[in-house]
Amino acid sequence: MKHILSVDVEEWFHPEAVHHLFPNENWQELDERVTHNVLRLLDLFEKREVTATFFILGWIARQHPELVKRIAEAGHEIASHGNQHRMLTKMNKDEFREDLKTSKDILQDVIGQQVIGFRAPTFSLVKETRWAWSVMVDLGFRYDSSVYPIWHDRYGIPDAPRFAYTAFQKNGQSLIEFPMPTLRILGKNIPFGGGGYLRLLPLPFTKMAIRRFHSLRQPSIIYVHPWEFDDDQPRLNLGAVQKWRHYHNIDKNLARLGRLLQNYQWVSFKDFLDSGQLKP
Ligand SMILES: [Zn+2]
Repeated sequence: MKHILSVDVEEWFHPEAVHHLFPNENWQELDERVTHNVLRLLDLFEKREVTATFFILGWIARQHPELVKRIAEAGHEIASHGNQHRMLTKMNKDEFREDLKTSKDILQDVIGQQVIGFRAPTFSLVKETRWAWSVMVDLGFRYDSSVYPIWHDRYGIPDAPRFAYTAFQKNGQSLIEFPMPTLRILGKNIPFGGGGYLRLLPLPFTKMAIRRFHSLRQPSIIYVHPWEFDDDQPRLNLGAVQKWRHYHNIDKNLARLGRLLQNYQWVSFKDFLDSGQLKP
């Protein structure tokens, strides 16, 4: 029974909580921090003998093609996180098609292989943007991992399925959705396993949640971002709650992830699909 490990590769100025402070035209002038933090993750993954899917922004791949090659050469899967970290909710279907195709073309040029997976920035595949699945099928994607089946101020489809399912079919092609991981507690879906939930919730809770998935023979998903391991990044003025949500436990996160990866077998989405374990 395998579980799935993933990294959303973006800079410290890309997350939605801070995005508004940095207009696109200024990105080139900002401190480059992603390489160092991705290399730390690659080291950890090598030590733990795991593979992961790296959902990479087209913009990042254009700046750092050597980094993308290095990730692929280490045996990890390269997938798309869009081109410029624009939420699907802020684009129409044609703009999304353009953004997704640009990122796919850039990534494929760098690695010389097909890109078949996508994760929407800020889990912005919500009820109103479900048209995105059909665009993904048009562009040759096989799976998506963007839907969070929870209530949240910025994202989520609370009544979406909690485990992998066939989300869309067209012309004999189908697209599998791997929803972000949740535990069902007292009739509510509680998120775990990535981003702020991994940093802020006690580690034993996350371990218990993964054990629960394991016993259900469902793959749990871990998702992290390079900036979540970067204790030296500029601390932005975000207001107390947002600041806590965004920066808390960054200094402990690498050790925490290392402990989680000691148990179970962790693989990329592609390796998971190839293993034939999925029963949608
Ligand atoms: Zn992101």
